[in-house]
Amino acid sequence: MKKKIVILPGDGIGQEVTAEGKKVLERVAELFGYQFEFDTALIGHQAIEATGDPLPPETLDKLRNCDAILFGAVGHPKYDNDPGAKVRPEQGLLKMRKELGLYANLRPIKLFDELLGASSIKPEILKGSDILFFRELTGDVYFGKRGRENDNQTAYDTMIYSRYEVERIAHKAFRAAQTRRKKVTSVDKANVLESSRLWREVVQEIGKQYPDVELEHQFVDAAAMKLIQNPKSFDVVVTGNLFGDILTDEASQIAGSMGMLASASVGDSVGLYEPIHGSAHDITGKGIANPLASILSAALLLDISFGAKTAADAVIAAVEQTLRDGYRTSDIADANTSKDKILNTSGMGQAVLDRLKH
Ligand code: NAD
Repeated sequence: MKKKIVILPGDGIGQEVTAEGKKVLERVAELFGYQFEFDTALIGHQAIEATGDPLPPETLDKLRNCDAILFGAVGHPKYDNDPGAKVRPEQGLLKMRKELGLYANLRPIKLFDELLGASSIKPEILKGSDILFFRELTGDVYFGKRGRENDNQTAYDTMIYSRYEVERIAHKAFRAAQTRRKKVTSVDKANVLESSRLWREVVQEIGKQYPDVELEHQFVDAAAMKLIQNPKSFDVVVTGNLFGDILTDEASQIAGSMGMLASASVGDSVGLYEPIHGSAHDITGKGIANPLASILSAALLLDISFGAKTAADAVIAAVEQTLRDGYRTSDIADANTSKDKILNTSGMGQAVLDRLKH
């Protein structure tokens, strides 16, 4: 197998964790006899500093001409406290998703048994949780009309969805459910929002084409509660951009830490793989970021974009073995973790590499 992979480290800990994800891909290539050609490109604050543009045309060009993308994160404190800034790192991310037609974000929330104690939720409620989120990425309030009026005294964002946007992600969710426990939960706010009523109507129509899959609807407020109360009741969850953004961060607590969750953004062409966390300014440069979400993103890349399921499973098994051997980064350590088992970012990356086998 010969493939071109673009590494987009971005900002903050994005730089630190993608370095470890890349090492894992390099080792996989050696072990499995694949030829991976790597390139890197600028995005986010880094790109603004270098070119004035959060997604420079050279980056977009490289992304359009590769087989898969391993992305870190974008964001910088400078913009977080300056809501009026005209050019912002996250514009690069939103534009990239739009330009590459990445309309579905897949977020597997799977708990490693070794981390049952790291979550703030009781182990007996968590054990066995395995949820696959499909968050719509290119619609909703993030792309609807927005503005200020009334002399800056009023601001608005428009929640907007079109039928085709709901149809295509609903198909992806139902197909995924067919290979899992055959249940789709569609999350909306159809009791209040018109865009949610269209969402529900379309999901119901598409659901009829998948009679082997059970379909249930939940309002987002109830879903937020049930995720914590009974996470095992969910299999595949499909939802819009805003609700998905919030619910998947909430669900990260099921996996113990933001540093454990990988995601895949897919559409009709190249796939993009990234941790769900951001650039984490509070720990940037300290070398303590957990690289496992980036490493698990590399596993998703192998599986979804390259169809290399055996290699992907080998990466996941190496992560599992590392955790079983007691190694932790500080975000997933608990009172029982001895000090000598707490690793820094590169130490954790190395521990996974040491356990990676064909
Ligand atoms: P964040 O995800 O960066 O961090 C939230 C908390 O989780 C922090 O305490 C952080 O230290 C911790 N954390 C996150 N990843 C970790 C890891 N790998 N290992 C250990 N601990 C980890 O979210 P935030 O603090 O709300 O945002 C910081 C910046 O990131 C902002 O500028 C925001 O806009 C940006 N952001 C970017 C993305 C993205 O690029 N996809 C997503 C979310 C936030």
